Amino acid sequence: MRRPLFAGNWKMYKTLPEGLALVRGLKTALKGNDRGDVVVCPPAPLLAPLAEELKGSGIALGAQNLYFEDEGAFTGEWSCAMLKSVGATYVIIGHSERRSIFGETDGMVQKKTAKALKAGLIPIMCVGETLKEREEGETFAVLLRHVRAGLAGIPENLAAKVVIAYEPVWAIGTGKTATPAQGQEAHAFIRKEVARLYGEDLAHAMRILYGGSVKPGNVKDLVAQSDIDGALVGGASLKVEDFAAIARGGA
Ligand code: PEP
Repeated sequence: MRRPLFAGNWKMYKTLPEGLALVRGLKTALKGNDRGDVVVCPPAPLLAPLAEELKGSGIALGAQNLYFEDEGAFTGEWSCAMLKSVGATYVIIGHSERRSIFGETDGMVQKKTAKALKAGLIPIMCVGETLKEREEGETFAVLLRHVRAGLAGIPENLAAKVVIAYEPVWAIGTGKTATPAQGQEAHAFIRKEVARLYGEDLAHAMRILYGGSVKPGNVKDLVAQSDIDGALVGGASLKVEDFAAIARGGA
C-alpha cells in the first residue's frame, strides 16, 4: 500500500509572521491525523524558522527549488546541503512555473532531481502538459518526455525515492481540475512508463501526486483513484482550514 502524501506549495506567498501562523494552525488542525504524510513547501527564507516551529509535529518541510551545484558563484541560488542544514527533507523540482517563467529545461530538471536524490532529499518532480498540448493530442508524448528526461540516468536505488507530481498546467491556479478519470488515466500512464524503466515493483511503490486546483471538495474523488496517491496543492495550501481538510482526505 502506498501511503498518501499531501504537499503544500506556498509559491511566493507568506511573510515569516504569516507563515508561522499558518504552520501553527496546521499543527493544531492536523493533530492525530493519520490519513497520510504532510509536507509544507514555503519560500526559502522561511525554511529555517518554520523548521523550528514544526519540530515534533509530524509535518515535514520542503523547498520549492534547488540548484544542482554544491556551491559557488551562483547568485540567488541554494544548494541541497543548504536546504538540508535548515531542515528541509523534500524539494519540489520542475514546477511548471519554474519551467515557463524561469526557463527550466528537462535537462535541468534531471540534474536537480539527481542532485536531490544523492543528497538524501526527496524530490517531488513535476510533469504535465499545457492546454495547447492537450488540445493537440500531445498529452502522453509530453508526459513520456518529462518522465524519461527527468529520470534519465538515475539508478533504481535512487529512483525508488522519487515522488512524481502530475500537474496539468491548464489546471494550476485556474480553478479547472482534471476529472478523476483524466487524472487516473495520466497517472496510470506515468506508472506504466516508470514500470518500463525500472520494473513493476518500483513503479507500484512510487507515489504519484495530482496537482491542479485541488480543494477540500474535490480531493476525495481524486485520491480515490487507484493510481492517485495524494496531492500537490498550491492556492488551497495557504489557508489552514483548506489544507487541513485536504490532508485529512477531503470532505
Ligand atoms: C501548484 O502550484 O503546484 C498547484 C497545483 O497550484 P493550485 O493548487 O493553486 O492549482
